[in-house]
Amino acid sequence: MMDSVTVTANNEIYCPVEDASFEGFILPEYIRQEMSTWKDSVAFESPESGVSYTYSQVMEHSRAFATSLIKQGYSKGDVIGVVLPNIPEYGSIIFGIWEAGLVASPTNPMYTEEELTYQFNLCGIKAVIANKDMLEKLHSISCVEKIIVMGEISEGCTASYHEMIQTDTTGMRLSMGSAINTKTETALILFSSGTTGLPKGVMLTHENVTVNAVQFKNQSVIASIKNFDVESGQERTIAVLPFFHAYGFQTVLTQSMLKGAHIVTLTKFLPALFLKALRQHRPTFLCLVPTVINFLLSEQVAVEDLTSLHTIILGGAAISQETTIKFGKKCSALILLGYGLTELSPASHVCRRPKLGSIGLPLPMTWVKVIDIQSGDTVGRNVQGEICVKGPQVMKGYYNNEAATKATIDEDGWLHTGDCGYYDDDNYFFIVDRIKDIIKVKGFQVSPTEMENLLKTHSKIADTAVIGIPDSSAGELPRAYVVAKEGMNISEEELHGFIKNRVAAFKQLRGGIEFVDQIPRNPTGKILRKELVKCYVESSNSD
Ligand code: AMP
Repeated sequence: MMDSVTVTANNEIYCPVEDASFEGFILPEYIRQEMSTWKDSVAFESPESGVSYTYSQVMEHSRAFATSLIKQGYSKGDVIGVVLPNIPEYGSIIFGIWEAGLVASPTNPMYTEEELTYQFNLCGIKAVIANKDMLEKLHSISCVEKIIVMGEISEGCTASYHEMIQTDTTGMRLSMGSAINTKTETALILFSSGTTGLPKGVMLTHENVTVNAVQFKNQSVIASIKNFDVESGQERTIAVLPFFHAYGFQTVLTQSMLKGAHIVTLTKFLPALFLKALRQHRPTFLCLVPTVINFLLSEQVAVEDLTSLHTIILGGAAISQETTIKFGKKCSALILLGYGLTELSPASHVCRRPKLGSIGLPLPMTWVKVIDIQSGDTVGRNVQGEICVKGPQVMKGYYNNEAATKATIDEDGWLHTGDCGYYDDDNYFFIVDRIKDIIKVKGFQVSPTEMENLLKTHSKIADTAVIGIPDSSAGELPRAYVVAKEGMNISEEELHGFIKNRVAAFKQLRGGIEFVDQIPRNPTGKILRKELVKCYVESSNSD
């Protein structure tokens, strides 16, 4: 396997392995075309519900769901919110939405009513598909006009998914393939706060989604991965990364499906459930975030539990070299680090061979450069700067937010990642720091601005700043600095109570709350978060 990238005279690194097979296809069509040899194999299986579907069934259900959506009057471009955990029907639901010419917007079912309302309003969601346990929450959100429920129809719901997939598809013309402009039409709206500010709706086109799968499927990438072919027997994986996040979505619904893998879905990461699935299903590959490695390293997991694995792809957050080395001693699988962001559908880099601490090389058809953070000039190898990416996986833009789109994708099409890194003498990339504001807790994004805005609604708070502090188990934890209004007394406990039911569990201020006299800001009023992180790290090191 060659490390096939070229470096131009302008210090731009390009992986020139071309593949046009994705052009003009929406993903379900592409998978249909690829799956002839594994159509009768199991695609999805849930150890929790006992339900499983073959590839053919997934695709039949997708068509029937699409047909029913069209019959029910949904029309091209309508956005459907998918508020579901990882369930074996997830693939048919997303593909059905796409085959009907609609847009899917997956979101976290653990979100509070406030968080869901914000996201639904942000991208104009009218209909939502959800489990019954979400109904109470959904009924109190005014912009939700229609609810499609899993299982049998119940009061207050417009339709049942399981009834909709009984629809007769004969004679129904779906707005597929030629009717969809895959280059320009939005397939997915996911959420990311980008480099700064509140969460925004990331619009990914059909081409973005399909190409990122093809970029991984390409021989130049998978040839490096031991045994990674369906001929040698069906690959097995456990889908523990949530499908509503770009990383889980892409690695399972696209990459794993394109390998014809047997995908075991888990509704959440519970150590006992995950361990049981590892023992029972003996996965051959896993896509994980670094925090799950801490669990695999624990005594609960035996060496024998990991012997079926030939490859583990890690991404979504940084992993320490120490942890990688330690895990390499316990598990003989190939451990390959990758890198990306929601705005890149999500991947731009993956290792073709393990290289300690490196996120690897650009994917096929992807250009990468590193720019000086102050001047914006492109820098050469071994010099740190902001990583910028250009390629067919770069998002269409942020929904209804041209200013943020322009601030992220420049006139030449380079997406500015907000991550700081460099490439070495082998053209392998390394991430060293984050310039942007996001906090990553167990691979999930927390927007400091969102948390600060929420805290400022408390009647006793004058000012506040939220930062991410390092944490060995979660990666990072949100920590708040709070200035109380004059003459007001607030306790940490009171503030924890205030946010408890307003934001999801991973956004809770588990990094602590500190009361201060003032928040450090630059002359233009921007919070000096780096300074706060530095002070925190220095003071905790001296303890
Ligand atoms: P998200 O859009 O939620 O996937 O978050 C993307 C961000 O996660 C990136 O911009 C990085 O800050 C971080 N990230 C993703 N992969 C890695 C990695 N391999 N190493 C370090 N940070 C990463």
